[in-house]
Amino acid sequence: MDGKTPSLIVFPNTKEEISEIIKLANRESLSVIPWGGGTKIGIGNKPEKADIIIITNRLNRLIEHNDSDLVATTESGITLHDFQTALKDKNQSLPIDPPHLKRGATIGGIIATNDSGPKRLRSGTTHGTMRELILGIKIVRPDGEIAKAGAKVVKNVAGYDIPKLFVGSLGTLGIIVEATLRLYTIPEYSQTFIVSLPSLQTAHETALSILNSSLTPACLELVNSSLSESISTKLKLNLKSNEYVLAIRFESVEKAVKSQSAKLKEICSSHKGQGVILEGEIEEKFWYEITEFPWTQDKDKTAVCKASVLIKDLSIIFEKLEDISKNSGLGILASARAGNGVLIISLDGEIPNVIKAAISLRELVNSLNGTMIIQQAPPSIKSEIDVWGEIGSSLSIMKKLKSQFDPNGVINPGRFVGGI
Ligand SMILES: Cc1cc2nc3c(=O)[nH]c(=O)nc-3n(C[C@H](O)[C@H](O)[C@H](O)COP(=O)(O)OP(=O)(O)OC[C@H]3O[C@@H](n4cnc5c(N)ncnc54)[C@H](O)[C@@H]3O)c2cc1C
Repeated sequence: MDGKTPSLIVFPNTKEEISEIIKLANRESLSVIPWGGGTKIGIGNKPEKADIIIITNRLNRLIEHNDSDLVATTESGITLHDFQTALKDKNQSLPIDPPHLKRGATIGGIIATNDSGPKRLRSGTTHGTMRELILGIKIVRPDGEIAKAGAKVVKNVAGYDIPKLFVGSLGTLGIIVEATLRLYTIPEYSQTFIVSLPSLQTAHETALSILNSSLTPACLELVNSSLSESISTKLKLNLKSNEYVLAIRFESVEKAVKSQSAKLKEICSSHKGQGVILEGEIEEKFWYEITEFPWTQDKDKTAVCKASVLIKDLSIIFEKLEDISKNSGLGILASARAGNGVLIISLDGEIPNVIKAAISLRELVNSLNGTMIIQQAPPSIKSEIDVWGEIGSSLSIMKKLKSQFDPNGVINPGRFVGGI
């Protein structure tokens, strides 16, 4: 854990066992780190303490799948992969596509980090992130009590929406042991268009034209030339080199996808875009590469950044990345969710250059009223730069919230924003 060695690693079978461990940790002033699939356990500042690690992978039961209501309740240690496989029988799924599906990201870890992928777009068949999909939650509180919030129905009980508070809380408010989630029917048909465009400006304008049209893509991704070249070589797509690429995915019934495709072709050719169509296995492979690329770089010399800016400002960020790459020699792979302004960027090279690049990128993002966090970096980078960045005036409210939930600072101490 970022240079800290835990004294104990436990594999509880039930939420009651987790409750006993947390009560013990309180009595003995020990810290506890929840661990799902461990795929992103390095996210956050270096932990203040790491005494006990609680691995949730034995809490892996699907408790109830109520297919007629499109709702399922599951234990939190189930992997997203196993959860989706169990729902598939009834042609349903949780419509999110975070990374590490194959490596074992768990429902608890995905809620704790509000993890998402290209389908975050929220149009067509996509439905945002866990925040939109969570209906109810059961937690072991930092004092060891088991508590529940929310319900199995779409209109929840009155009061504060506690399940949503846990989304993106990085395990600092309690250990998630169960979740009730809203499901959707698996789309019948899917097609992806990979369109190469002559310049960054044209690529961005094409994305804006798509967003301002009646089309409802499931994913709309703007990919820099280094990343598109790397994927093209790997999957033998023969994309033009040195060009930005837009990847547009449609999911629906076949007739609807084909009619949207025809309209898309008109928009792309009016911007001089040239493309290929992907379907089936190769289409899945393409989206796998887009989702996983940051996590396949050399961990010892790469910083993975996630930035969020206004859609109109995406091209400013891509221009800056081109500058940084030219001036510092860093390898930069980047992909933007062009429908919501979220960018995933990996900066790879000499550590001092990576730190310098991350700092100047964050300055630019902040000047555009955006935010940037560092999702993954070696400890030598984390010592030099706050992974979360400036939080502003809401930090004092967050600190009070943490001290209400966890006055003894038992769970995940020091990892979250502002050292929470
Ligand atoms: C704020 C934030 C935003 C992120 N957004 C994205 C994104 O948009 N796109 C993307 O590609 N990736 C994102 N990630 C990466 C994401 O963390 C992982 O892909 C995935 O969610 C990890 O699942 P896991 O089961 O392997 O969790 P782990 O790696 O085991 O744990 C991840 C974190 O969650 C905590 N945790 C795990 N299980 C529980 C539980 N049951 N109860 C309470 N806490 C728990 C852990 O203590 C740890 O801090 C984000 C991460 C963070 C922190």
